[in-house]
Amino acid sequence: KEQANVSKAAERMSLSGGQSHDMLPPFTAAWQYTDAQPLIITKSEGIYVYDREGNKYLDALAGLWCTALGGNEPRLVEAAMKQLQTLPYYQSFWNRTTEPALELSSQLINMFTASPMAKVFFTNSGSECNDTQVKLVWYYNNAMGRPNKKKFIARKKAYHGSTLISASLTGLTPLHGSFDLPVQWVLHTDTPHYWRNANPGESEEDFSTRLAESLEKLILQEGPDTIAAFIGEPVMGAGGVIPPPKGYWPKVQEVLKKYDILLIADEVVTAFGRLGTMFGSDLYEIKPDLVSLAKALSSAYMPIGAILMSQHLFDEIAAHSNKLGGFSHGFTYSGHPVACAVASECLKIYQERNIPQHVSQVAPAFQEGMREFYKYPFIGEIRGLGLIMAVEFVADRDTKAAFPTDWGVGTYFGSRTMAHGMLVRVSGDIIMMSPHLIITEGEVKELVSKFGAALEDLAAYIEEKRNGTK
Ligand code: PLP
Repeated sequence: KEQANVSKAAERMSLSGGQSHDMLPPFTAAWQYTDAQPLIITKSEGIYVYDREGNKYLDALAGLWCTALGGNEPRLVEAAMKQLQTLPYYQSFWNRTTEPALELSSQLINMFTASPMAKVFFTNSGSECNDTQVKLVWYYNNAMGRPNKKKFIARKKAYHGSTLISASLTGLTPLHGSFDLPVQWVLHTDTPHYWRNANPGESEEDFSTRLAESLEKLILQEGPDTIAAFIGEPVMGAGGVIPPPKGYWPKVQEVLKKYDILLIADEVVTAFGRLGTMFGSDLYEIKPDLVSLAKALSSAYMPIGAILMSQHLFDEIAAHSNKLGGFSHGFTYSGHPVACAVASECLKIYQERNIPQHVSQVAPAFQEGMREFYKYPFIGEIRGLGLIMAVEFVADRDTKAAFPTDWGVGTYFGSRTMAHGMLVRVSGDIIMMSPHLIITEGEVKELVSKFGAALEDLAAYIEEKRNGTK
């Protein structure tokens, strides 16, 4: 019977020309996977991936901003094999655990120096990290006898995950509309996007001041005693790669401190070198109380997330834990030994190869190379730093007006990058990239040149659209 089922599945796959109709893929509209053949990736090699037909693509998004060390790092494979052979699984509940989980915890505590961290809590993903953050903060405020201090502030266009609470923290409407989200105790403040949201003539510093004032206004409106924490990505990622304007993080932190509001740095994308520093918090002098990590933590070879908890938070929780009972929260796979062993090896590689320094060395070729494309008038903004970047297309650079949505400018561009052998992320008319942290300068040049070739195609497409010939 089993054999029959296997051949039935194989038959369905081949009848559908390779479409996996049986899978419900995340973040995909129904018509996309019933009418169009999915891209089926079968192999990776360094910064490249191959599809089933043997086409090779430069993967300019590194999977989903995560495969930092590329496709075939033998040390990560060996670490996984060794752990699988010794102890493929044991749990970490009730003060039982494994050596890889303990070792990884110590490594993380030592590596994060922006503010003193005391403890690590393991999850399987970034979403689970941010859901857990909410529970940790609530647990803490309950311990402190502040049962009303429970609301969270996130930012419009933030991405913090897709589970119920992390999707609520996320400030992107597609994650809310059809799901009755966000929950009402999550509030969203302004997006720190200078190019898009600054007033005419406003300096970056003034823009940051205005946003900090607006945050303070929101806190006062709601009542400071009801606001528990603020969560933010040091550089916003999936919402369109938005680096903070000058002075933003110091000003925001000043407001949070004034009202005794905890700060959670969501470093799921920015950690481990992407911005040219080991953490985004190092670059912007963010002093978080809690940190969320995932993605590059294991270079995505295994699913794993981690929360760092500051000393002062842990001290309070420890002091009050008698009256609260245990922290009854965790996952079967929290601190999974194979995932921890891989992550542990991954962190050793980041340090031994000084990946943040490597990123700083290749970043100019990427950042400056891409900025040459301002010669195309349909590019509104090219933004980013280190190895993260967004390019936003606009119909008019002065007014920042968008192209008609039915022109599908972003989608067309995405299809042209594929034709030129590259994968990028398309979100409306914003194109995002976060190449592997091991990318070489030569490979960066190849990326920029492929991007340029797709831009040439796009220029012709826009011209035809404007002339009404397409
Ligand atoms: N936080 C940030 C900043 C992210 O970019 C993401 C995912 O892209 C998440 C959280 C959610 O992580 P996951 O998809 O592993 O749940």
